[in-house]
This record gives sequence, structure tokens and C-alpha cells, in this order.
Amino acid sequence: MKLYFVVPCYNEEKMLPISAPKLKQKMLDLIKSKKIGKDSKIVLVNDGSKDNTWNIISDLCDKDKTFIGIKLSRNVGHQNALLAGLMYAKESADATISLDADLQDDIESIDKMVDAYLNGDDIVYGVRSSRKNDKLFKRVTAQGFYKIMQKMGVETIYNHADYRLMSKRSLDALSKFEEVNLFLRGMVPLIGFSSSIVTYERKEREAGESKYPLRKMLHLALDGITSFSVKPIKMIIFFGIVVSFLSFLALIYTLIVKFNGYAVNEWTFIAVSIWLLGGIQVLAIGIVGEYIGKIYQETKHRPRYFIDKIID
Ligand code: UDP
Ligand code: MG
Repeated sequence: MKLYFVVPCYNEEKMLPISAPKLKQKMLDLIKSKKIGKDSKIVLVNDGSKDNTWNIISDLCDKDKTFIGIKLSRNVGHQNALLAGLMYAKESADATISLDADLQDDIESIDKMVDAYLNGDDIVYGVRSSRKNDKLFKRVTAQGFYKIMQKMGVETIYNHADYRLMSKRSLDALSKFEEVNLFLRGMVPLIGFSSSIVTYERKEREAGESKYPLRKMLHLALDGITSFSVKPIKMIIFFGIVVSFLSFLALIYTLIVKFNGYAVNEWTFIAVSIWLLGGIQVLAIGIVGEYIGKIYQETKHRPRYFIDKIID
């Protein structure tokens, strides 16, 4: 079995010199135990890094034929960079394992993933059993995100990020998804081939800092929700119905007051409702706009990445 590791790297000059040897060692162990073939590889995708990452990758590739370097033309984001690597790897590999350059996702579970593949699973999800090593803020926001996704009816694997094994067959299926707004952990469950789960404990990042600041996390979350669910729009409709019902009651109230000979002079009520309804309307237009923006991007069908150079 030919196994390819696929690792997207963005400004990982501090991390790569630590993680590359570890990945290599893991690969050697797997080859030694005869679980995978000698022609297995480690694909490092440079996602338009601004630091020394590409030089490190090309050095690694020159010294050791196990490493393959892919240089993207510019920074396209984690999801696109990962897809670039996976689509390259699927041409030669029987299976791929995608993982982050910081190795926060325990590489010891790779053995279990390979076992599951050898037992016939096409997709093996790495699932974090605990996040006690994550910073409080990251833990709360990330878990909130998975909860919201569930509420929105998006079929994702709880606490699974992009650490997973995929067979060639499932990658071929993934390549049929043509969307530009990528949210891989929502797309992969849609493929449907037999899958299983491997749990592990997430570690701390050893060097460098997180490339997912709050801004990018929110972006990914919004992308995930609006690419996979129309629930927000349905919620607007529901809200509209509730508000209409309430204003109908208010109408009856004012009519009763009027016909009893009183003037309705509660201007505060009117002022507040104008602001409230105005706010709700703007929010609703914003949500619908978000979907229209998605449609706009998808219809243009722009390419998701360009490969500048490959060292193999
Ligand atoms: N990454 C990337 N392009 C980007 C941002 C991140 O390829 O624009 C890579 C990064 O190098 C790492 C992985 O995506 O291998 C996950 O990033 P990070 O570990 O910073 O995210 P976190 O673990 O904090 O969610
Ligand atoms: Mg990380």
C-alpha cells in the first residue's frame, strides 16, 4: 500500500525542522512493520509562505526522496492548499493522510488509521478526545463552532478537523465536488464510503503560532454554515412570521384603545419598534446577501489554486 502524507504549510519555518523528521520516522516505522510500501511519500504544500518555509521544503526534498514539495503560486488558505496536495497525491497514492504541519494531531494514531484502511475503510476520521491542551479561548470557540454546525443541520464529525485518512477512491469522489468555497470536513462525510473514527488527544503547538486567528476561524465557520445549510434563511422566515403575528396583536391593541376614546401616544413603543424592525431587516438582508455572495463566487468558477513548482 502506497501511503502519502499531505501537509499544508504556511509560515512554518519554526515548525517544519521539528515535524519533518518526526513524520519521516513515522513513515519508516510503518514501512518496517510492512503496513505500507517503501514508495510512500510525504507531500509538503507551501501555501504562499512569506518566510523561509519553501527553502526548508526544497532542501528536504533535495536531501531525501521521501519528501515531495509543492509550491502554490500564492496563499490560498488551508482548505485550498490541502486540496491541492490531496489532488496531487491521489494520482499515485493508494491512500493519503492529511495533517497539519504543527503535528498537534497525534501522529501515533496514524497506525490505527492505516489498520482501519487495511480493514477496508475508505475514510478514517481523526477525532479529538479532549482539548485540554488547547488555550481556553480556542477550546471554547472551536467547540461552540461544532455545536452551531450541528444546530444548523450540517453533517460534520464532532471535534474532527482535517486530520484524516482517505483512500484513492474517496479522493476521486472528492475531486467531483466543484465548489469554490471549500469546507472539506463538511464535504467528506457526503462522500459516504465506509468510514470509521480514531480518537486521540490534541497536543500543544510546539513552535510558531496558530495561523488561524479569530478572523480566519469566523470566516471558516461562516463558510461552513452557508455552504452547507440554508437554515439561516429559514430562520429569517420564521422570525418574519413571529414579528408579523406580534404586530397584528399590536394593531388590535391600538384599535381597541382608539375606539375606547383614547389617543395612542406611546411614541416610545413606536420608536423602539422602528429601530428593532430596522435592525432585523438589515440583518436579514445581510444573511441573504451572504448566500448571494456565495452564488456569485460559485458561478464564476474560479480555479482554486495554481501550482508554481513541484519537487519530487
Ligand atoms: N495553513 C495553510 N494556509 C493558511 C493557514 C494555515 O496552509 O493560510 C496551514 C498551517 O501551516 C498548518 C495548518 O494549516 O499546517 C493548520 O494551521 P494552524 O495549526 O495554525 O491552525 P490551528 O491548529 O491553530 O487551528
Ligand atoms: Mg495547529
